[in-house]
Amino acid sequence: MKQITLTGIKPTGQPHIGNYLGMIKPALELVKDYQALYFIADYHALTTVKNQKELEELTYQATATWLALGLNPDKEIIYRQSDIPEVFELAWVLACFTAKGLLNRAHAYKTIVEDNISAGREEDKGINTGLYTYPVLMAADILLYGTHVVPVGLDQKQHLEITRDVAILFNKTYREVMVVPEAVIRKDVMTITGLDGRKMSKSYNNVIPIFAPSNQIRKQVMRIVTDSKRPEEPKNPDECNVFAIYRHFADEESADAKRQLYLDGGLAYGDMKKELFELLESTFSTQREEYNALMENRAELDKVLENGAEKARDFAIPIMAKVRKAIGITGVR
Ligand code: AMP
Repeated sequence: MKQITLTGIKPTGQPHIGNYLGMIKPALELVKDYQALYFIADYHALTTVKNQKELEELTYQATATWLALGLNPDKEIIYRQSDIPEVFELAWVLACFTAKGLLNRAHAYKTIVEDNISAGREEDKGINTGLYTYPVLMAADILLYGTHVVPVGLDQKQHLEITRDVAILFNKTYREVMVVPEAVIRKDVMTITGLDGRKMSKSYNNVIPIFAPSNQIRKQVMRIVTDSKRPEEPKNPDECNVFAIYRHFADEESADAKRQLYLDGGLAYGDMKKELFELLESTFSTQREEYNALMENRAELDKVLENGAEKARDFAIPIMAKVRKAIGITGVR
């Protein structure tokens, strides 16, 4: 039996190239050696998306993105988080093994608290309990299936550490029920920066979507913030938000040549942006057609997700039964 790779994406916005490089691409590379369970974290998205139509649409977009980028639903398991009731049962169990201090220190929560404090607001202003307990639900997402590896971007490292701590504590309290998972974080990727140089993130509105229409992608690329150095001036490629993205899509030779051009002088940011746009076009335009076709066929997407949920529950149900037994819950299920 193959070991399990599992990861998820929140449908809080259109998937972007930070998601692609940080998680989707590495996750798709793992499928040849692992059984993959890849899910759309729709209930996680509820911490921020409170519009019914939007949540539905974004869930389809995330699903179509996975499929267009090469996930094979006959081999890999793709499902909606909300279709697996056991995950919410396990989340409660795990909450009882999660020190509150761990959640206080979780960076997604801490960042908002710090923003509130520096803006002179009450520290928990605008923070719902779902957002605060996010890492517990994430631990349940992972531990419910006996996951061995979790491909994620660097921003999820701490959440994975919380998951491991919780699993270890549970195992220590009862017996070895939980598989303690490992994060898989690509050293050459870490965190992809967005248009403004901060982490590319749907919540910062600084993303390049993977599959938006080409004129929108162009617009976003042209919005990337640079300094105001003139073409002839030498520049530092490692401080350039355009190069930071370009180097992940260009072949090594082109990236090296560009790096030299930055250093020598003679590169105009406008030209560099055009090249990046063309590179993104050539990387994704065929898959974009596939994506658009999938988005026209919601019934097919529903079918894929329903089949996936059934298969995912085959993993989840026996593990949840073990958890219940270990704890001493002896109800009818
Ligand atoms: P999310 O959109 O927060 O659900 O993230 C889905 C996956 O994409 C997670 O594994 C994140 O770590 C990864 N990810 C999101 N933004 C970035 C980024 N800017 N750079 C690298 N990975 C990212």
